[in-house]
Amino acid sequence: MLSPPPGGAPVGGAPKRGATGVVSTMMEMERKREERRARMEEERKRRDVDAAEAADRGGVDSLDFIRMIDAYRAAKGVPTEPTCWAGPRTVWDLPTRSKIRVCVRKRPMLSRERERREFDSLTVHPPGPGSELAHSTTVHENKLRVDTSKSLDNHEFQFDACFSERDTNTHIFGAVGMPQMIDHVLAGHSATVFCFGQTGSGKTVTMMGLSGQHDGADGTGLYGLATRALFERKAAAQAAGGYRLAVLISFYEIYRGCVRDLLNRRQRLNVRDDAKGRTWIAGLTITRVDDATAVETLIQAAHAARATSATAANATSSRSHAVLQVRACLDADAERALANGGGGGGKLCLVDLAGSERASDAASADQSTRIEGAEINKSLLCLKECIRALDAGQRHTPFRGSKLTHVLRNSFMGDARTVMIANVAPGSASVENTLNSLRYAARVKDMSQSGEAVD
Ligand code: ADP
Ligand code: MG
Repeated sequence: MLSPPPGGAPVGGAPKRGATGVVSTMMEMERKREERRARMEEERKRRDVDAAEAADRGGVDSLDFIRMIDAYRAAKGVPTEPTCWAGPRTVWDLPTRSKIRVCVRKRPMLSRERERREFDSLTVHPPGPGSELAHSTTVHENKLRVDTSKSLDNHEFQFDACFSERDTNTHIFGAVGMPQMIDHVLAGHSATVFCFGQTGSGKTVTMMGLSGQHDGADGTGLYGLATRALFERKAAAQAAGGYRLAVLISFYEIYRGCVRDLLNRRQRLNVRDDAKGRTWIAGLTITRVDDATAVETLIQAAHAARATSATAANATSSRSHAVLQVRACLDADAERALANGGGGGGKLCLVDLAGSERASDAASADQSTRIEGAEINKSLLCLKECIRALDAGQRHTPFRGSKLTHVLRNSFMGDARTVMIANVAPGSASVENTLNSLRYAARVKDMSQSGEAVD
């Protein structure tokens, strides 16, 4: 009988147990390798999805911010597809005695913003139950700390109405109650709409329309929609009551504190006051128009005059305030109105304000741009004070503080109605300007704002 080798395993059993051990070790290694492979595959897929999402939504560095914004929207129940105004109630049906309505309009992200790897940093919350108007909006301010951690500051603002990127000019026209404003003008009062915001935020699209688009979308702006509605009402009034109305148009801009006639080769004009407290622009072209097409033709010519000078004088149009003035008076008073601006009647002013960013970037500009910026800043501050004074029913309105408020003096008196639309660009690079615009708009009417931070 063979005895087992000293210290060794029995000849038959030990190698058998060793083989099993090796096999199971190998199987274990294989399982781990499989697991690792699956993990890597998953990671690769996630990176591919991230890269695709990043390419679509603002670049890989922005993904964390984008996901924080997504999470914010999900938590607040904001639908992925933005809502738009569905009437019939308008800002003038809100239960407030104020003569001012303050709204915000978010324009869509533009391809040039996506190319610059910006991402959508503005949320318009859907209307609450029983309301057709959205009232709040949140600006997402992204912050990169020194330790490279990322956080989001969410600044929420409440306004009379907030319009999403899906709202068209036709929606805005209805929701800001332009038909009610026009009735107010036909009753002999003043009504004014201001578009305010940084250059590129959509002010001119709101007023003029988006060229290349057709009616029903953004093709026609407030200029065209308001004058069409005015002529429709004029015809209806004539048919019903037999009285005839005249519609008179003027279009001017205020650039560096000077008034220039956009219907007369940008001729420089002076502002005059008389002893009765009436203010007018001496020599301003006043044109009688008989239909909306004639207004459109005038506006196109005026806009072209503005654009031509803009190339020569380095984008003047974004640094000037443009005012379209539409007067409706009795036909019998038209001659007097054409001769000296008198004759009573109501007045609608549609104001495309100068780019508000000039107020903040004065430090980087040359001296002449700084002076220009200071002038714009002064007029926007003064405008805020005048609107507040109008709303508070103050006897004294500080309209002399700037040329803009001086020429618009009558719009701040009596039973005047005002709509301020703060136009905002949604791109992440515009957040600072957007916050400035919304803070300004909120102060026009002391509307609420709050902030919360998310890590
Ligand atoms: P602003 O007058 O405030 O400087 P614009 O009205 O000229 O700004 O708009 C800036 C850019 O944004 C333009 O290219 C315009 O076509 C685009 N844009 C503005 N609003 C809209 C909109 N509602 N829909 C699509 N594009 C828009
Ligand atoms: Mg513009």
